[in-house]
Amino acid sequence: MAVPAPVERLIESFRRLPGIGEKSATRLAFYLLSAPQTTADELAAAIARVKRDVVFCERCFDLAEATPCRLCRDPQRDSKQICVVEEPADRAAVEASGSFRGLYHVLGGALSPIDGIGPDELRVKELEARVRKEGIEEVVLATNPTAEGDATAHFLADRLRPIGVRLTRIASGMPMGGDLEYADRVTVGRSLQYRREIE
Ligand code: ZN
Repeated sequence: MAVPAPVERLIESFRRLPGIGEKSATRLAFYLLSAPQTTADELAAAIARVKRDVVFCERCFDLAEATPCRLCRDPQRDSKQICVVEEPADRAAVEASGSFRGLYHVLGGALSPIDGIGPDELRVKELEARVRKEGIEEVVLATNPTAEGDATAHFLADRLRPIGVRLTRIASGMPMGGDLEYADRVTVGRSLQYRREIE
């Protein structure tokens, strides 16, 4: 299929995005071609801004507009508790439940040997350093209730146990295999409320 070079380049750019195949990339490109100029301009501007204006918080690794993020700087939060989640979206889900008043730590994913994701690909060392330095009393392991999330929680528990901190895991009221990100507030709140010591 011969399309003008700029269209070819756009399709190629879309194809590099996760979850986008050849067909979707082509559809998106042709959608933009037929959309008003402002739609294309706004999308381009939003992409440029997100890289410029959004940073990772140096303390909790959540996405933020400044570092440390607003939550890490909030004196009302209980700075002795850390809730460990996989992704920023999970952090947002826990926060929306209103059941947690401590600080967060965003790992950046879960352990997945098949995908080549080991402890060094996640913010594990950073978590360990925080627990030691910040005098943390409880770490709530709120990785997703999936095989990878459970394995990650147990790995972290083994790693943090020598520090002598209380280690809890969110309750399995969460649907197995579900992500925090997609669970409703009540379910997330309950899973935090009924968290238990991890073996
Ligand atoms: Zn932060």
